[in-house]
Amino acid sequence: MERMWLLMVSFIILQTGVEFCVSDNAKQWQTFIRKITEATKNYQPCSQDNCTCYQSVLKDDLRPFKNGISEGLMADTVNRGVGTHYQIISKKLYREQSCMFPARCSGVEHFILKVIDRLPDLEVVINVRDYPQVPGWIQPVLPVLSFSKTKDYQDIMYPAWTFWEGGPAVWPIYPTGLGRWDLMRDDLKRSVEQWPWKKKSPKGFFRGSRTSSERDPLILLSRAAPDLVDAEYTKNQAWKSDKDTLGKPPAKEVTLVDHCEYKYLFNFRGVAASFRLKHLFLCGSLVFHVGEEWIEFFYIQLKPWVHYIPVKQDLSDLSELLQFVKENDAVAEEIAIRGRNFILDHLRMEDLYCYWEMLLTDFSKLLTYKPKRKSNFNQITHRASRSEL
Ligand code: UDP
Repeated sequence: MERMWLLMVSFIILQTGVEFCVSDNAKQWQTFIRKITEATKNYQPCSQDNCTCYQSVLKDDLRPFKNGISEGLMADTVNRGVGTHYQIISKKLYREQSCMFPARCSGVEHFILKVIDRLPDLEVVINVRDYPQVPGWIQPVLPVLSFSKTKDYQDIMYPAWTFWEGGPAVWPIYPTGLGRWDLMRDDLKRSVEQWPWKKKSPKGFFRGSRTSSERDPLILLSRAAPDLVDAEYTKNQAWKSDKDTLGKPPAKEVTLVDHCEYKYLFNFRGVAASFRLKHLFLCGSLVFHVGEEWIEFFYIQLKPWVHYIPVKQDLSDLSELLQFVKENDAVAEEIAIRGRNFILDHLRMEDLYCYWEMLLTDFSKLLTYKPKRKSNFNQITHRASRSEL
């Protein structure tokens, strides 16, 4: 009788325990569901016309120069060596002789040359290093164009060279450097057909080098729970020993197209913003975007919970988020679809040409002087990119 009673009590405890667990989970997921509902309700989709999506980014970036950019300020900026000096005079592009990263300059020049017939005379300093150059404390603010920044910098953002050429060379998958966004979009569209949501592996996935130690916790989680996450470090040009891949030999590189096999794809900052983010969306996978500090010009229109899952920089909320998306597959798929559609509709090559044109046109209006052609500059004309040769 006593045994029977004990059995009954254990049964009840077990039952209520399970019940408690389920309702607790449901309650916990309600918080995330509410965040998604709120975010999607408040989301204002933007128009595809005239890069209106990104107008506010440019307005913010140019605000420090509302009183104009004088010839003296431009000369000071040039003299600091924070970027490559370009001039546009009578619809022709000129550049100082040297460029620290020729393939990156070439990627930038592709975009300028594409719209040059519509540009007024101007001169500009374009930083092709990874890191921004104008910290918030600098006075007066220097007019420098950079591809990425944080809130602590006042650089003016431009669509990066890698949309055409000059991205990181990753051997053997991208030996001439990550580029040609136009071709990559097509490749990724094809890969989605091969990997529709239902066929994707319900796992987190990351491949990349240790450009920031903020990626370490994911690699360690993958080593501890390989069924949950497949994340490994690959080599980059700076690799010297296994220390640079967190004590293990480097993993084999995986093309971005092959990332599409997985449902949950991770993006992290590298030295600055990582070029991988835009590609992950086109896989039709759910993007886990870690940290919000580093941005490119188009990030501002990508909204947490609408287009991607935001993850804390220290990854402390990751296990819970992974559990949530696994248990709420339809909700996860909807976010993935919205993210993919945004990049398909608003990060087309024509959007990039449009942004470059708007940026240089608005920038030229701020110059308080008429730029004079420097005789020692070289004219830059259309060239075939390395990927076209
Ligand atoms: N990459 C890739 N597969 C790999 C390793 C890297 O597609 O196996 C891509 C990655 O997505 C990124 C670029 O190569 O767009 C450089 O990656 P890395 O992690 O080295 O640097 P990041 O720029 O992200 O800091």
